[in-house]
Amino acid sequence: MNLTHIEHIGIAVKSLETSIPYYEQVLGLTCYNIEEVADQKVKTAFFKVGQTKIELLEPTSEESTIAKFIEKRGEGVHHIAYAVGNIEGALAEAEMKGVQLIDKTPRGGAEGLTIAFLHPKFTGGVLTELCEDKN
Ligand code: ZN
Repeated sequence: MNLTHIEHIGIAVKSLETSIPYYEQVLGLTCYNIEEVADQKVKTAFFKVGQTKIELLEPTSEESTIAKFIEKRGEGVHHIAYAVGNIEGALAEAEMKGVQLIDKTPRGGAEGLTIAFLHPKFTGGVLTELCEDKN
């Protein structure tokens, strides 16, 4: 699949406003981007740690999968995103190897990345996102 690095770790939070201070004041990171991803019904905040990012996800609607996640499991790590060189190829390979895809075709995510999710039932319980920077 040729993963190059961990692109980001997605963390579900109830509120960006109350969560950002921990990352800035305790961990000493800087929030460099806040972006709403309308089709996923989330508002995201990004921090960089080396070449890996932390992505905080706040639901903007009760129907957001993030809202449902927090309701069931509370705030916490939601997904791990790996950078790949060829997302279409990686999805085809995962499917061929028996992994159910949440996104059969890649779609636009935050930060201008092309993304797709693999079903956690087939990834050891870890919601897995693949990302390609096509820019
Ligand atoms: Zn993500």
